[in-house]
Amino acid sequence: MKYDYEKVEVPAEGQPIEVIDEDADELDIPETPIVPIIHGDGIGKDVGPAAQKVLTAAAQATGHDIAWMRVYAGESGREHYDENLPDDTVNAIDEFRVAIKGPLTTPVGAGFRSLNVALRQTLDFYANVRPTYYLDGVPSPMKAPEEMDMVTFRENTEDVYAGIEWEEGTEDVERVREFVEEEMGFDETMHDGPIGIGIKPITEFGSKRLVRKAIDYALEHDRDKVTLVHKGNIMKFTEGQFGEWGMEVADEEYPDDEVFAAPDSLWETQDEVDIPEDAVMVEERLADAMLQWMQLRTDEFDVLAMPNLNGDYLSDAAGAQIGGLGIAPGANFGDARVLAEPVHGSAPKRAGQDMANPTAMILSGRLMFDYMGWDDAADLVRDAVEETISSGKVTYDLERQLEGAEKLGTTEYAEEIVTKIEDLS
Ligand code: NAP
Repeated sequence: MKYDYEKVEVPAEGQPIEVIDEDADELDIPETPIVPIIHGDGIGKDVGPAAQKVLTAAAQATGHDIAWMRVYAGESGREHYDENLPDDTVNAIDEFRVAIKGPLTTPVGAGFRSLNVALRQTLDFYANVRPTYYLDGVPSPMKAPEEMDMVTFRENTEDVYAGIEWEEGTEDVERVREFVEEEMGFDETMHDGPIGIGIKPITEFGSKRLVRKAIDYALEHDRDKVTLVHKGNIMKFTEGQFGEWGMEVADEEYPDDEVFAAPDSLWETQDEVDIPEDAVMVEERLADAMLQWMQLRTDEFDVLAMPNLNGDYLSDAAGAQIGGLGIAPGANFGDARVLAEPVHGSAPKRAGQDMANPTAMILSGRLMFDYMGWDDAADLVRDAVEETISSGKVTYDLERQLEGAEKLGTTEYAEEIVTKIEDLS
């Protein structure tokens, strides 16, 4: 064991997941892996246990099992440890490599760091990954929502989200202004008077490892294309550089017949280009145009890789096209580690009422299964969720949009999915 745990027990019936090759994301998954789980705050208390039940059923129905290790953060962290993010929790996620969490509330007020950001940064989960696909029966604002089948890779550690910024009125912000104006020569660029300043770091290291992750995912999952989405025509030395470094990865690190870096894809169509059959094409697109195309030419896109801010906006917009927050799954990938988590937050006004939709957390678990190579369990989860929704049995959020649907509580809905799992296996 790598750590001593103060207040949680490592389940005796499980085995730890071991790393074979960290850079290659290779893990040795035992028969009954130990998987840390944080149920979460607010509706996490409803959707966490519901998802755990469904994921256990899918694992067992496909010849596996899971030794869940309950760990605590947020409100439950304060109850058990008087801390928001106890060491036991961080250590368990570090040691056991594959974990899942529900939403955590970020307390409002000065001095509170987002627990989600703290977890991602402490364990270097540098890629936020969101598969966005349509589930039959889900209400959507689009005419052809089934055309959506994208996976977004959002860089998780850099960009304007790095937290390097200075508040108006402080001595520090005035020092930065002076440096930028007087030493760097931008003396006519900023208006006089109070100012806030932030810095947008985009590094070669951060950009390349994110794009590498997206390309490896495309290769492993038989995807045709990776689109690098940035605003490099305006922010040439940050966003533009992200695109250049990304294309370098495609061009230099993979054979052409596996990964093909499309030439001049920002400005030229690729109609005349000879793309090797079966190769993953890597192209660049501008972020503003991409937001249009995602709606107008949905089926042309596949895997997207982006700096942090673009990724935040684009992945939410993509999620809206297939039915919104209650069903949108996600995961944070590091090297040979994954922390699955639904996209939604703790929705305090719906908390503890056994009404929230657990689909997003269940499908986040599906992503975890996929990462572990448990494809059969992952497929079973998707099929069972889809059959349940298309039979008209749904939670309140979908019921209010679907005529004739039957409204179920969180627990009942999860039980319905477990029954479908049993029927399908
Ligand atoms: P939110 O918790 O995602 O909820 C916004 C609204 O979305 C809810 O009121 C509800 O809409 C709907 N919704 C979200 N999840 C749902 C589900 N599973 N089933 C059904 N409806 C669902 O966003 P928020 O209110 O902005 O954030 C609340 C707290 O969560 C904040 O403290 C925030 O920092 C935190 N947060 C955490 C994470 C995370 O842990 N990764 C992510 C985002 C936000 P209706 O009211 O229309 O029913």
